[in-house]
Amino acid sequence: MRKPKLAVWKFASCDGCQLSLLDCEDELLALAGEVEIAYFLEASRATVKGPYDLSLVEGSVTTPHDAERIQKVRRASKKLITIGACATAGGIQALRNFADVNDFLSVVYATPEYVSTLETSTPISAHVAVDFELRGCPINKAQLLEVITAFLHGRKPGIPSTSVCTECKRRGTVCITVAHGTPCLGPVTHAGCGAICPAYNRGCYGCFGPMETPNTASLTKRLRVLGMDDRGVERVFRTFNVTDFEEVRSR
Ligand code: SF4
Ligand code: SF4
Repeated sequence: MRKPKLAVWKFASCDGCQLSLLDCEDELLALAGEVEIAYFLEASRATVKGPYDLSLVEGSVTTPHDAERIQKVRRASKKLITIGACATAGGIQALRNFADVNDFLSVVYATPEYVSTLETSTPISAHVAVDFELRGCPINKAQLLEVITAFLHGRKPGIPSTSVCTECKRRGTVCITVAHGTPCLGPVTHAGCGAICPAYNRGCYGCFGPMETPNTASLTKRLRVLGMDDRGVERVFRTFNVTDFEEVRSR
């Protein structure tokens, strides 16, 4: 029987989410037994032509070439899943959306006229239809395996949409906001990381983006009580998922 063809594509990103797939180690051989890894340049130069049964897309669209290429990837893919904050929300590079990209070009590059870039960094879903978005910066490898397995078996992925606070409760972490007054984005952030930062006495940075129905207005009031000024509040929401957090905060 023909194995389903898996492809992994990179757009504007740091490669960290693709590395999460390679980091599966114990499970990678089993996965390779179930699918034909047909296109994955991070792992091998050998490629197999499409169409592909399942495409994983990392990264955001930041150049005219990206905007054309994602259309070709979509046409070649039966199912398309975006992985990581860059692909699902535009990533930290979407900070350009709130400034003039030419200002960045002039201070970063010696010869900016050679750089071909768009004014914005946008998620893949702004360009093509996406079958599932897996959040995180980087993504959680166990969640990635669950999503791939679910798509191979034609079922819905079992990915919770609750907040990081539920993960603190599950691992028995005392709430550092209540106990020590440490600012934390956990109450409005999508679960998935396992609440790593609070377990090490650091507030959540929102790597997994907004949870379903986040109450950012209430959390902002709390952040101010904890001593954050306007600039501090703006900075804490403007990280890896800046566009998604700004969108929910403007509602
Ligand atoms: S989401 Fe984070 S880890 Fe993944 S590619 Fe983007 S910057 Fe790297
Ligand atoms: S430490 Fe943060 S994520 Fe954990 S329960 Fe408290 S507010 Fe929620």
